[in-house]
Amino acid sequence: MQVVPAVRVGKRFLSPLVGAGILLLSGCQSAPLCSPEWPSDLSDLGDDWKIARIALHVHSDASFDANGRIEDLVEAAEDTGVDVVIVTDHDSREKSVEAGFHGETLVIVGEETGTKSHVLSLGGENPVAPGLEGAALIRGIQDVGGYSLVAHPALGSEEDRESVLAGSQGLEVYSLSTDVLSASRWEIVFKALFSLWLFPDATVRSLVDRPEIGFELWDEILSTRSFAGVGAVDSHGTYGLTHQASFRAVQTHVLVRTVDEKNVLEALRSGRCHVTFESLEEVPYFLFAITDERDQMWLEGESVSWREGMQAWIRTPRASDIRLLRNGNEFRREEGEQLLAAIPGPGVYRVEVYLGGDLWIFSNAVRVESHE
Ligand SMILES: [Zn+2]
Ligand SMILES: [Zn+2]
Repeated sequence: MQVVPAVRVGKRFLSPLVGAGILLLSGCQSAPLCSPEWPSDLSDLGDDWKIARIALHVHSDASFDANGRIEDLVEAAEDTGVDVVIVTDHDSREKSVEAGFHGETLVIVGEETGTKSHVLSLGGENPVAPGLEGAALIRGIQDVGGYSLVAHPALGSEEDRESVLAGSQGLEVYSLSTDVLSASRWEIVFKALFSLWLFPDATVRSLVDRPEIGFELWDEILSTRSFAGVGAVDSHGTYGLTHQASFRAVQTHVLVRTVDEKNVLEALRSGRCHVTFESLEEVPYFLFAITDERDQMWLEGESVSWREGMQAWIRTPRASDIRLLRNGNEFRREEGEQLLAAIPGPGVYRVEVYLGGDLWIFSNAVRVESHE
């Protein structure tokens, strides 16, 4: 079991938090006392944490089935408030766009490999050897020092999916391409003709569903090990579905101190991130952590040994339907901007937030381990 050292929380941040916890847990009835000054952004974490908003799994002109010059991708990022574009063309790095900062936008270049099950290889020194499948593909990604992320798990066969999931380091729990491809042909024709052009965000939003298969696979893996879950756009810039609309539809927000390739990929790999669906509404911040009685805090993607007095707390930017899950099952549910709950024991804790019945945000997990 790997227990990650906790973030020491700044006093300014924790005091209202603990205060709120005591009040909420004691069933406070007084409105002013029940509305403490909770942190409104990440500055209160105390260590220069910031959120970098990622459009993950983007195809450029270098992919045979996509449109997108570097200028188009950067423009789409600027239009949608995206800080980082992760480009993963099919089996191609050399022919892809140029990595690095383009103005304020950081472009990271990886690749999408495999023909049976698709896997993203991020980071690493070299391209992955061609022609690999299944477990060999995952090993091939490891051999070049890459981070392997299984793409759109709901597409393709169960057998192929199992063969790549076993050794991989992360999963596209949500993929926009799955929802677009699973829409009926007539729905797509109708949307392409009338709605996509006039109302791109609302139309794409109407295609987004809770990723049942993604969550099921993820919860199963999380029951045995830490495993990062991300949201992917799989954006091709084709058939009227612009990169802009895709970038707004689903983003992965990582928590980093510095926005550069190394830190962003490290945060993705460790699951220090959550997924947002912003054609519904913007998500300027979202906080989920587990705290103990000694003011220590564990963030998304981290693990901690169980002890008495632990609490889960969640903060969303506006009143919403907040659901705290334990081992994949809903454990607490609250309408509002915050949820604070005593942690009854070991388990894998993660959060789903809904707005008007639609999935708006989902977190990565904090693992509360039992004592050895
Ligand atoms: Zn693919
Ligand atoms: Zn793709």
